[in-house]
Amino acid sequence: MLNVNTPRILPRAQHNISRQQIDEDVLKVLYRLHRNGHLAYLVGGSVRDLLLGRQPKDFDIGTDATPSQVRRLFRNCFLVGRRFRLAHIRFKDNKVIEVATFRRHPRQDELPDDPDDHFLFVQNVFGTPGEDAYRRDFTMNALFYDISDFSVIDYTGGLDDLAQRQIRVIGDPDVRFKEDPVRMLRALEFSARLGFSLDDSTLRSIEVNAPLIAEAAPARIREEIMELFRHKVAARVMRMSKELGLLPHLLAGYRGDETSLQLLQHVDDRTASGVAIDEAFAIAALFLNRFFRDFPVEKDTHITAALHMANDIIFSHCRYFSIAQGIRHQAREMLVGCFRMVRGRGRRGERRFVEHPFTPRALELLRLWALVKPELVAVTEEWSEAIEQRTVPAGEARKKTRPRRRRPRRKRPEGGQPQAKQLKT
Ligand code: ATP
Ligand code: MG
Repeated sequence: MLNVNTPRILPRAQHNISRQQIDEDVLKVLYRLHRNGHLAYLVGGSVRDLLLGRQPKDFDIGTDATPSQVRRLFRNCFLVGRRFRLAHIRFKDNKVIEVATFRRHPRQDELPDDPDDHFLFVQNVFGTPGEDAYRRDFTMNALFYDISDFSVIDYTGGLDDLAQRQIRVIGDPDVRFKEDPVRMLRALEFSARLGFSLDDSTLRSIEVNAPLIAEAAPARIREEIMELFRHKVAARVMRMSKELGLLPHLLAGYRGDETSLQLLQHVDDRTASGVAIDEAFAIAALFLNRFFRDFPVEKDTHITAALHMANDIIFSHCRYFSIAQGIRHQAREMLVGCFRMVRGRGRRGERRFVEHPFTPRALELLRLWALVKPELVAVTEEWSEAIEQRTVPAGEARKKTRPRRRRPRRKRPEGGQPQAKQLKT
């Protein structure tokens, strides 16, 4: 049985992680920590991804050096985070390498009296590598790569779970999900990203603890939701969340109807094709079906009414997640842009709309929407043509398409010379 003191150690010869796959600045940091007598491990998702033969998104480092010891070793080091103290080591091109001191769960008797202070406290008690592994979320995320001998260290059984392509919570899922409900969402995200299975006890625990996610810090949920979109698994995770009863707690009252899920799948496919996703686009996609459902397109509906409705629909989402006004504005413009286009061509203000810089993005969303609603293909094509003809590179558009405005000529008095400007006396 694996435990906090006796890890399984996989020597270099028995795994496929080569230093060539590791960022050279990360290697420099690892080596300097090691040369100065500290433990220096690659930790978390990077070890998991390397073992799976995937390119890690970033490399995190774990060490037994305290944050101030790390700072003394690196000139380019800054300590960050009031909640979770970390060392950030900065390199050129804004590259930042994160070095965290091993942490552990505090004992019950060490906790502060005020339960509100627990979360902060729990994250900042330093510990051994074994203890650090056990405070992580899933076994596959608790593997270490030791720079001193290039071995992989496994305290929690992550190697076996990786081999079996399964996600296992470290410890009792009920306890760990109650401790931090965001882990439920992460479980679904990793399952979708990696194609790994989740065991029955984890799925059942998500069903039971689902309402707790509504209490997680909005900023964390917001970030995890954007991670879903960036990793092109928004549709799949929303669907799983819906099946497990998590979705309405995750996004207050969000139904995740079939039409929206289909649209999100097209958004994920678009991201998979290499188009970067941004938050305004994601929000507009999440709420587009609701917008059209609550506000069916009718011929004589005024655009101001559409604007109000779009605002109403995304307002509570944006307020809850403290989403900046600029992003909310763009999302709203995309909804209203889709509305204008679905309403058909030949309306007042069409030319200005076609030339507006937001319009091509609304059209992109409408194109995805038309994949769900084939009856909109024809109108989408019409607008595509109109917009493509208009979208000349910025600057040129002004020069070429806009006629110069002239002041209306002053009328000559009958028979006379143009009047000189009269001086007031
Ligand atoms: P990604 O590829 O998305 O970056 P990751 O596993 O690196 O995946 P991060 O969010 O970067 O995920 O977190 C880094 C590591 O921190 C995780 O691998 C895990 O060990 C630990 N971790 C992150 N979030 C939690 C959490 N909520 N509870 C416990 N451990 C966590
Ligand atoms: Mg990571």
